[in-house]
Amino acid sequence: MTLRGGLTLLVVAAAVLGQSHNHRADPTYSGWNVLEVKALPPFLNLEALGFPSHMDLLSFNTGAGTTLLAVAQERLTQFMQRLTEAGVAFQTKINDLSQLFIRPLTYDVTRSLPRGDLTFDRYMYYQEIESYIEALPSKHRNKVQVDEIGRSVEGRPIYLITINKKTKTRKVDKPVIFIEAGAHAREWVSPASALYLVERLLESPSLLRNAEWRLVPLLNPDGYVYSWHHDRLWRKNRAPSSVPECFGVDLNRNFDFYWGGVQAGRDPCSDLYQGSNPFSEPESRALRKAVSAVKRRTKAYISLHSFGQTFLYPWSYSRAGNNSKSKDLVNLADGMVRKIEAAGGTRYNISSSGVSLLVGGASDDWVASQGVPYVYTMELRDRGETVFHLPEHLIVPTGEDVWTAMKYLGRKLRYRRKNKRN
Ligand SMILES: [Zn+2]
Repeated sequence: MTLRGGLTLLVVAAAVLGQSHNHRADPTYSGWNVLEVKALPPFLNLEALGFPSHMDLLSFNTGAGTTLLAVAQERLTQFMQRLTEAGVAFQTKINDLSQLFIRPLTYDVTRSLPRGDLTFDRYMYYQEIESYIEALPSKHRNKVQVDEIGRSVEGRPIYLITINKKTKTRKVDKPVIFIEAGAHAREWVSPASALYLVERLLESPSLLRNAEWRLVPLLNPDGYVYSWHHDRLWRKNRAPSSVPECFGVDLNRNFDFYWGGVQAGRDPCSDLYQGSNPFSEPESRALRKAVSAVKRRTKAYISLHSFGQTFLYPWSYSRAGNNSKSKDLVNLADGMVRKIEAAGGTRYNISSSGVSLLVGGASDDWVASQGVPYVYTMELRDRGETVFHLPEHLIVPTGEDVWTAMKYLGRKLRYRRKNKRN
């Protein structure tokens, strides 16, 4: 299809779908369909389509040229008609999105865990995560340090958990492995997997001897809370914008490396809104501070997202993608993928982020630009079948995928370090 066709589609569909604003037409998503459309966001121009009031961009794959969209029932027929008229192929994946979300929407938030406890039998809500993190240092005095690295727009603390085995001798500068999770509010399995990793690391003295692990398990606490109580598919933070009814910046478009480049939104109502400036948001500034403090000794950085089951490596901003480290990055990812499968986990792909996604202002690119050698965005389970609401019985298996990969990474980086000395 030509660009002209796309513009026609956009103008007509914009008229059909009405004004762009930030309130979902129906936050229970009753009757919303999920469509896989054979076109990409800049071409579809979702902002003009009335997204996000009656549509939600769930994911896109630049390599495959496809977009996964949720569409409100009352707009569905017209939207499908427009796609057909414009010659854009599409496929219905899910008929009623609300069926996936019924349990958390009726979840009994009064039955909370005892203070400091955690569970992987279900997703933990914000107060439980916060209380678990705050209790960590007193439970593991010689291994864990918790720092507040900033506060969110609504004033919630953003925590950094440092796990390190303290030695009696002089403090040595161990290599750092840095994990970022929860940048996108609706990707609940991301913070859950980060906390799973914390628990596993604390049982593994050998991995703590040779590396210091730093984790920001919930970068976007405001968005996380909003995704529990108001809109299960909320993605951004909760910053007010120049448009009174539109909130939120996509934190993973707010970093100062090719900010405002490809696949970033200039419209504050877009789910991909990049913010008014690079690092305009307190959440991304907090992460910048935490990364900058240890960037010299950070050997690896993993940004946990969902969904897609893919290890993505920089650069994200360019399709040319290849940086001088591509071969090393692919080899190391290949080792992690094999270990996950050998441990009974699921199949992960490996791809250059520029080929799969092509986005500007993402945290992975910014961290790589700071000189950190091994940077990945790990898209966790699944492949889109459950649209961010990965069933609770898959929290532990997904956490195991991350744990298996990180165990391999930790050992591999230690091995390389030894080699260098010899
Ligand atoms: Zn994400």
